[in-house]
Amino acid sequence: MIGEGLYTGYPCTLIRLSHCNLRCSYCDTEFQRAGDNGEYKCDESLDANLGFDWRPQVEMSPSEIVLNLETRMKQPWILLTGGEPLLWKDTPELVRLLLEGGWKVLVETNGTQDISVLPAGTRIAMDIKTPSSNEFGKHLEENIALLGHGDEIRFVCADSGDIDFALDFLKGRELSCAVSISPVYDSLEPKEILTRIMGKKIRLNIQVHRILEIA
Ligand code: SF4
Repeated sequence: MIGEGLYTGYPCTLIRLSHCNLRCSYCDTEFQRAGDNGEYKCDESLDANLGFDWRPQVEMSPSEIVLNLETRMKQPWILLTGGEPLLWKDTPELVRLLLEGGWKVLVETNGTQDISVLPAGTRIAMDIKTPSSNEFGKHLEENIALLGHGDEIRFVCADSGDIDFALDFLKGRELSCAVSISPVYDSLEPKEILTRIMGKKIRLNIQVHRILEIA
């Protein structure tokens, strides 16, 4: 199930691609930071500081992934996440094949990679990293203008300073995509976000999959 954001609640098939170029303080998918032998667009020296040994479970080409999906239960939605899925050179091709196959595709990205490589019709959920993430300011500003109807900007906030940052960031911007703020689990009360976004075109984003304990 898509557990958060605009499309929350839709049953989906989740494709999680390994490796991430960021090290967010609240990351709950640390094992996705590792990688090996892959065709990374990023500098492979990023792997040098890993404090653990984890390798991608399966290496598959885009067409192998699509073939695999076609032989399984066919959920209408595909959630492509990571790690950072846009670090992989083949991701745009994979998304293209999935869209051609009739799936709706939502890509979650940390905002540091060029989203213009994704084909038309891709739904994009892009993070803007907040100060408490320790990865603040690393998004590509050019990406923001590429987000439109059906896409979303997400701020993950751990404290009221992060909420201040998100509201300041949005000031004066004309956005055609949706905007949401989510609390870091067990760090910030969702109600605090709610009180701060009253009267604004911002959604409170809750991780429903955590509440349901399904992923
Ligand atoms: S961008 Fe996502 S996967 Fe990468 S470190 Fe941050 S939270 Fe973890």
